[in-house]
Amino acid sequence: MELTPVTDLPEIRPGDDLADLIADRAGDDLADGDVLTVASTVVSKAEGRTADLAEYPVSGRAQELADSLGELAGEEKDPRFAQAVLEESTELLIEVPFLLTETRFGHICVNAGIDRSNVPGHDLLLLPERPSESAARIREGLTERGYEDVAVIVTDTCGRPFRHGQRGVAIGWDGMPASRDWRGELDRDGRELGVTVQSVVDELASAANLVTGEGADGVPAVAVSDWTFGDLAGSDELFRSVEDDLIRQALRGWEWEGDA
Ligand code: GDP
Ligand code: MN
Ligand code: MN
Repeated sequence: MELTPVTDLPEIRPGDDLADLIADRAGDDLADGDVLTVASTVVSKAEGRTADLAEYPVSGRAQELADSLGELAGEEKDPRFAQAVLEESTELLIEVPFLLTETRFGHICVNAGIDRSNVPGHDLLLLPERPSESAARIREGLTERGYEDVAVIVTDTCGRPFRHGQRGVAIGWDGMPASRDWRGELDRDGRELGVTVQSVVDELASAANLVTGEGADGVPAVAVSDWTFGDLAGSDELFRSVEDDLIRQALRGWEWEGDA
């Protein structure tokens, strides 16, 4: 497997055609059957998902959230930001010491994935509205440019429970299944695997994040070559439903008891 950065992409602006911009620069670094990862940051920029705090009239709930977060942090928190997070979310899972929410497309992350870095000219960058549809559009654009069967993964950088540190995850994908189902396969002892469903889109997103970096590198797209999904069964289930998510159920009865 080889990961190659797509270099020299410009600052992405609303209305930009990412597939075109990438095709112009990737050349032979991207080949038929490859996977292309694209950071959600630039997908959002191309889709005009920038926003300004002034666009968010503050609800009572947002004010309440900002007050408790501010009290905890010992500094004022902007209630308009809390309002933006609420508007991007379908469920608030944690209120303090940070906002953990479910986005409208089913991804759970801090602050609804709203970024305040790498956003020139605006206060906020919201996640793409439907990242898998974004991936499909980029894939279609690449097909028009002559690349056959390139799968596209839209990534974001996210924290995780149980471990320190953030890593890349897939928030949208098209042209490949999200997971490889190993159930029914045999291990080296001949024992049948009973539970392993490998989230390959997340693994590819994490690997690509090593190449994009998190700061000023200017590398939002990575070509993944010489990797194949193989013939295991695939699944597109990535985001757990509430019924299927014990941790989320536990959070519904949980309250933070720490101090500032
Ligand atoms: P996120 O993980 O999707 O939130 O994106 P990051 O802010 O971590 O950025 C991922 C990579 O894309 C980094 O290398 C950034 O420098 C780069 N990047 C962000 N915006 C742009 C842009 O408009 N143009 C280019 N060329 N690179 C960008
Ligand atoms: Mn992000
Ligand atoms: Mn990142």
